[in-house]
Amino acid sequence: MPLAEFDLIREFFAHSAAGRDDVVLGVGDDCALLQPAAGMELAVTTDTLVEGVHFSNGADPEALGHKSLAVNLSDLAAMGATPSWASLALTMPSSDRNWLEGFSRGFLSLANKHGVVLIGGDTTSGPLAISVTAHGLVKPGQALRRSGAAVGDQIYVTGTLGDAGLALLARQGGYTVESGLVQLEQRLDRPQPRLSAGAALVGIASAAIDISDGLLSDLGHICEASATGARLSLEQLPTSVQVKSYLQQSGDWGTVVAAGDDYELCVVVPREKQAELDSIKSSLECDFSLVGEIVAESGVNCIGSDGDVVTQLTSGYQHFD
Ligand code: ADP
Ligand code: MG
Repeated sequence: MPLAEFDLIREFFAHSAAGRDDVVLGVGDDCALLQPAAGMELAVTTDTLVEGVHFSNGADPEALGHKSLAVNLSDLAAMGATPSWASLALTMPSSDRNWLEGFSRGFLSLANKHGVVLIGGDTTSGPLAISVTAHGLVKPGQALRRSGAAVGDQIYVTGTLGDAGLALLARQGGYTVESGLVQLEQRLDRPQPRLSAGAALVGIASAAIDISDGLLSDLGHICEASATGARLSLEQLPTSVQVKSYLQQSGDWGTVVAAGDDYELCVVVPREKQAELDSIKSSLECDFSLVGEIVAESGVNCIGSDGDVVTQLTSGYQHFD
């Protein structure tokens, strides 16, 4: 039997396990009431996942719950903010109990893991779409913006690139993964936002962005905002064994730099912060690889193993393109 709107909110979304003193009033009234710590800046972001655009029909609801929050927490990570609250606007064709159980489990377990309270939202019927707004806190003036990169700064990325892109390619039948498909699919379906890395880089990085549309495109945003360019060394890009073996067979670097859905961080660090970077590197809980340098000439250029600029790499996904 389908659940009525208020019953399903009460059953699945009204009980955030993470307790926070700064939530004066959570789900259940016309608004949530929040009491942010005095003097902190609020970082706010919204991301929407639409069936048929961001995920396919019949996608695992638990993974969708996880990912819909994860992509927002990734934006907070990229700003160096510590997440605090989220709201959820859920549009779905029917109120299916199994789907809601899976979805809310995926969403709330990631929320709990990072101390995020679900403070409210909206529930409507229609084609499946999930819109999440996440809030975080950051010390005044300390957030990592896109606009701070300067010529000579070094470019780093967290984790590995191209795993989600390769998982999608495999799922669509375009490639057969010999071994380790499960790990690749986890990277596509359950990205882990790099929150501790983002927070640790506050005061060290000059600019940062999360890689949602592919490194080329997202580093391009840093360059544009900072009025600089960038040179990337393809050979230095960190990749998993699965992606390495795919690259050997295909030579398709586009999957590494342009396929998107990585949810790693691209971080720019001034050379004079190198010692500080070294001192926190071991605490980052993920690999942190030097991949290039900020340059004066505009555009993002990829340098191949022969030292030449590699052209014809596809750029990131754009809606309405
Ligand atoms: P209103 O009509 O005043 O906008 P609603 O009836 O839509 O309020 O929602 C009732 C309460 O449930 C509100 O506190 C709202 O924030 C919360 N809520 C609605 N949908 C969700 C959801 N999917 N997840 C979490 N909270 C929700
Ligand atoms: Mg109201």
